[in-house]
Amino acid sequence: MCDECEDHHPDHSLAAPNRRKVLLAGASLVAAPLLAGAATGAQAEQAQSSVGNGPFPARAYSAASATSPLVPMQIERRAIGPNDVFLDVLYCGICHSDIHHVRSDWGPDRYPCVPGHEIIGRVQAVGSAVTKFKVGDIGGVGCMVDSCRTCENCLADREQNCLMGATLTYNSPDPISGGHTFGGYSDKIVVPEHFVIRIPPGADLAATAPLLCAGITTFSPMQHWKLAGGQRVGVVGLGGLGHMAVKLAVARKADVTVFTTSPGKIADARRLGAREAVLWSDTEAMKRLANRFDLVIATVPRAFPMQQFVDVLKLDATLVNLGALEDLQSVSGRSLVFGRKSVAGSVIGGIAETQEVIDYCAARNIKADIELIQPEEINRAYDRVVNKDVRYRFVIDMASMKPVAGSRG
Ligand code: NAP
Ligand code: ZN
Ligand code: ZN
Repeated sequence: MCDECEDHHPDHSLAAPNRRKVLLAGASLVAAPLLAGAATGAQAEQAQSSVGNGPFPARAYSAASATSPLVPMQIERRAIGPNDVFLDVLYCGICHSDIHHVRSDWGPDRYPCVPGHEIIGRVQAVGSAVTKFKVGDIGGVGCMVDSCRTCENCLADREQNCLMGATLTYNSPDPISGGHTFGGYSDKIVVPEHFVIRIPPGADLAATAPLLCAGITTFSPMQHWKLAGGQRVGVVGLGGLGHMAVKLAVARKADVTVFTTSPGKIADARRLGAREAVLWSDTEAMKRLANRFDLVIATVPRAFPMQQFVDVLKLDATLVNLGALEDLQSVSGRSLVFGRKSVAGSVIGGIAETQEVIDYCAARNIKADIELIQPEEINRAYDRVVNKDVRYRFVIDMASMKPVAGSRG
């Protein structure tokens, strides 16, 4: 299933007409070698022939089935269309959603699965109509690479809620190339410029990658529910999303409490700026905190006992579920009715809001706490994430991808 469009239909994966040839014929390019900063005219000239307009072979890490490890594979990236940006991927974060997809946690998924939707790359070429990027710029790609752009939600800058179903960065039907989309565990990607986020100069690139999913997913509910300075916010689960939620709430001067199942994370929660961290099993503390919170953001990756977190909400307050896509565990109707409390959900954020969180974090030097790994270490990192042993986001150094055995790519 696509997590965001929730489409289980087998036809969803059927190939749309293959437009690769059309794009190839129509594309004209401005291209240059992999260099930071502006390319000179001479460099651009020289590179035009060396880069070409594609399609391009790319190296990737993929899973062949729900029980297979991720292994190197060669894939193809489509030819660059007039509105496309071609990125050399530098870094890609590991989101728990990647693991849910690879392991078919949400129902039978698509294989081979090349995950990755926290992508930072350097622009290597742009299509002729691209205005937002030039060669050498740094771009970011989050969870979406396209949407219909005409429905009322897209027109309201909420592409993540596209009524036609946004094209997710991986494991969505690919309306341009056919098959399904491949994500950022890869050394190259081609994405329409609308879905590429500008990364401000000077950003710590590896630690900025997680903002493209974990950052926007926790920022968006704070914006929507207008989390203000002095308000009390609870963060349930201190992993990738949870640690970004703490940092972003602290930046708003909110009063943050972390609810964790891991005694070893209590000191970290305080270091990140939380006033306190409470173990779910600490019934005394849970009782003391009843009816105190303006907003609770839950990042637990599966359905969990929710009532205790409804109980800590104040009158009129909201518990936002970000992680559990299956049926939720029962919540007392009485507790919602008598406290006018809400249980809600939220999915990533639109492109404009994603740009906003990137700029917001750059201005305040907010970034993820990361552990940088080599592509060969992905499978071990997955096991550590599932065992709640991530501090607090793994980011893969994609530029260190080795050639796939037997290929020239
Ligand atoms: P993560 O890094 O694994 O963090 C999840 C944290 O939840 C863990 O570190 C742990 O924190 C807690 N946890 C894990 N398993 C638990 C369990 N069985 N019971 C109770 N607590 C548990 O995951 P993530 O990348 O932050 O993603 C969290 C969830 O959000 C995933 O399901 C992911 O698919 C989803 N997600 C949703 C969106 C969206 O748009 N809505 C976007 C991205 C990700 P403690 O050790 O502190 O208890
Ligand atoms: Zn994610
Ligand atoms: Zn739409």
